[in-house]
Amino acid sequence: MAYYTIGHELGHHVHGHTATAIKTRSPLERQAMEIEADGYSACLSVREALRNSRGPEDERIKIQCFFLAAALYLECDERTIDWRSFHLEDYPPYSIRIEYLQGEIQETFRQLRPQDPGVLDQDSAGELLKSLDGVWNPINSSTKILYETDTLSPSTHIEYNQNLHKARLRLRQELQPTHLKRTDDRSNSGETEARNPLNSCSP
Ligand SMILES: [Zn+2]
Repeated sequence: MAYYTIGHELGHHVHGHTATAIKTRSPLERQAMEIEADGYSACLSVREALRNSRGPEDERIKIQCFFLAAALYLECDERTIDWRSFHLEDYPPYSIRIEYLQGEIQETFRQLRPQDPGVLDQDSAGELLKSLDGVWNPINSSTKILYETDTLSPSTHIEYNQNLHKARLRLRQELQPTHLKRTDDRSNSGETEARNPLNSCSP
C-alpha cells in the first residue's frame, strides 16, 4: 500500500501535475491525471519487485500483493459507475482505475520480461479481487465479514459481559482473605483489616 501511495504521489510530480495545472483542468482531465499517476506507481512497483526478487514465484507474489494493496486502498463503497455524473468527478471510478492498474502492471512486466507470458492477466486479477469482496462494505457483498460475524448476536455480547462480571466478583472474593493493606489506612486505629474489595471497586 505504501508503494502504491508513494508511487502515485511521485507520479503526479513526475508528470508535472502541479497545483496550478490541476486548477486549470477540467474534471475529465483531472481523472486522466489520476490514471497517469496510478500508471507511474504500477510501473515503479513492478520494477522494484523484479529488482529485489529471489525468483519467479517471489516476483509474482510481490506484484500480486502490490495489486491487491492498491485495490484495497482504492476501493470505495460504490463499485458501479454512475455515467450521469462521470464527467463531473475529479477522480476516476474504482473499476476504471483497477482495470488500468492491472493493464499497466501486465504491460510493464511484459516489457521487462518479454519471454514470460505475464504476471497479472484479467482472469488472475479477477480472482485476486474476489478475496477483497466485502472487506470495506459487507452490506453489499456476500463474503468475508458477513460470514465472520453472522453467528454474533446481542445476546452473545450480554452473555460475555455477565461472565466477565461473575469472574471479577469471584476473583475479589478469592482475594478477600489476603487482607491487602493500603498505605493510607495506617493512620487509622491500628486495625489491620483491609478495605472490603467487594465495596471498594466498581465492576
Ligand atoms: Zn492522485
